[in-house]
Amino acid sequence: MTGVSLLTEDQNSLVEAIGKIADRFGDDYWRKADETASFPHEYARAIAEGGWLGIAMPENVGGAGLGLTEAALMMERLANSAGAMAAASSIHINIFGLHPVVVFGTEQQQQRFLPPLIAGTERACFGVTEPDAGLDTGRLKTMAVRDGDIYRITGRKIWTSTAQEADRVLIIARTSPVEATPKPTDGLTLFYAPLDRSKVEIRAIHKMGRHAVDSNMLFIDGLEVPVEDRIGEEGQGFRCLLHGLNPERILIAAEAIGVGRQALSRAVTYAKERVVFGRPIGQNQGIQHPLAENWMELEAAWLMVLRAAALYDAGQPCGAEANSAKYLAAEAAFKACERAVMTLGGMGYAAEYGVERLLREVLITRIAPVSPELIKCFIAERVLGLPKSY
Ligand SMILES: Cc1cc2nc3c(=O)[nH]c(=O)nc-3n(C[C@H](O)[C@H](O)[C@H](O)COP(=O)(O)OP(=O)(O)OC[C@H]3O[C@@H](n4cnc5c(N)ncnc54)[C@H](O)[C@@H]3O)c2cc1C
Repeated sequence: MTGVSLLTEDQNSLVEAIGKIADRFGDDYWRKADETASFPHEYARAIAEGGWLGIAMPENVGGAGLGLTEAALMMERLANSAGAMAAASSIHINIFGLHPVVVFGTEQQQQRFLPPLIAGTERACFGVTEPDAGLDTGRLKTMAVRDGDIYRITGRKIWTSTAQEADRVLIIARTSPVEATPKPTDGLTLFYAPLDRSKVEIRAIHKMGRHAVDSNMLFIDGLEVPVEDRIGEEGQGFRCLLHGLNPERILIAAEAIGVGRQALSRAVTYAKERVVFGRPIGQNQGIQHPLAENWMELEAAWLMVLRAAALYDAGQPCGAEANSAKYLAAEAAFKACERAVMTLGGMGYAAEYGVERLLREVLITRIAPVSPELIKCFIAERVLGLPKSY
C-alpha cells in the first residue's frame, strides 16, 4: 500500500531504511509519550544518528542534497508508523523548515546554522502565526526595531511548535509599520533568532492531540537578535518565507498520507480478525467498502503529492499542486482515521488500539499550515481565474 512501483530503486531503499528506524518505536513508546506529553528525544536522536535530518540539505553543509521527493517519502514513512504525526512533527522543521536559510542565507549563515540542525544538536521552531492575524499574514504585528548591530523583537506568536525544546526560532517580524508599506506583506523581515528564555516566555497550549510535541504561545519582550542572524534583506521576509511554503505543504501532505495509511492498515487488520455474528466483520460490505474508498482516496492524493514534489524538484511552479496535495491528503487521511475508529467499534475509542490517537493527530494536517477553505480560495483565484474572495 505504499505506491512503491512509482519509485526508483534508491528511493525504495531509502523508504526501507527509514522504516527500520521508525518501527523500532512502537505503540507503547508513543502512547506513553502522548499520555505524559514528553518529547520523543530517543526517537529524534535515532533519526539524527542515521544522518536523516540532512536529507534535503545541501552537501556543502553536510546534508545529503536529495530532493523534496525523497524528503516526502521519508516523512510519509515516518508518519506511517506507530509514531504517526507526533513522530513526523518532532523532526519536521529540520527537514525543510530552514529552507529560507538555504536559499537566502549567506554562506557564513549556512555554515553556522545548518550543520547543528543536521546533527540534531540544535533544534529550531517556526514563529509565523500570531493571535491577532490568523491566516492574514499581512496583519502580523510583532515588531523588530533596529538598534545599531542588533534588532529588538517584541510581540506575540501562537502555535509555535517545539518551542519548549528549541534553541532558535525562525521568526518573521515587522520592521516597517503596515501603514508605511505599499502592501501589507511588505515591511516584514525574517530572522533566525536565538530563543533567549529571559526575553521570551514560552507557554504550552493545552491541545487535542500530538501531546508529545508541544505547541506554544510566545510572549516576546525585547528579544535581542544580532544583525548577522537576519535572513535576507530587511523588508523581504515574506518573500523569503514564500519560498518555503510549497515544500512545507507537500511535506505535511506526505505526513497526512502516512497517518491515513497507518489508520487504514490497523482497520484492515482488525476487520480480518474480529469475529461477530460468526464471521469476520471485514466480510461485510458495510465494513469493506468504506475501507476500499479510503485506499483509493489515499492513493489518489499520494499521486498528487508525488507530482507536486516532482515539479518542485524540477524547479517548476507547483503552487496549485502543492496546495491540492495538502488538501486532498489531509481530507483523505482524516476520513481514513475516522473510519478506522468506526471499524474498531468500541475498541476504536480505546487508547490501546492507537486509532483514536491517529484521529486526534490527523486533524492538524487539515488545519495547518493553511486551512482547507484558504486552499479552495487559492485554487479558485489562481487556477480558475475567479475574483479574489478574501
Ligand atoms: C497543532 C498545531 C501546530 C501548529 N504549529 C505552528 C508552528 O509551528 N508555527 C506557526 O507559525 N504556526 C503553527 N500553527 C498555526 C497554523 O498554521 C494556523 O492555525 C493555521 O494557519 C490557521 O490559522 P488560524 O488558526 O489563525 O485560523 P484563522 O485565520 O483564525 O481562521 C479560522 C477559520 O476561519 C477560516 N477563514 C478565515 N478567513 C476565511 C475566508 N476569507 N474564507 C473562508 N474561511 C476563512 C479559516 O479557514 C479557519 O477555518 C499550528 C497549528 C496547530 C493547530
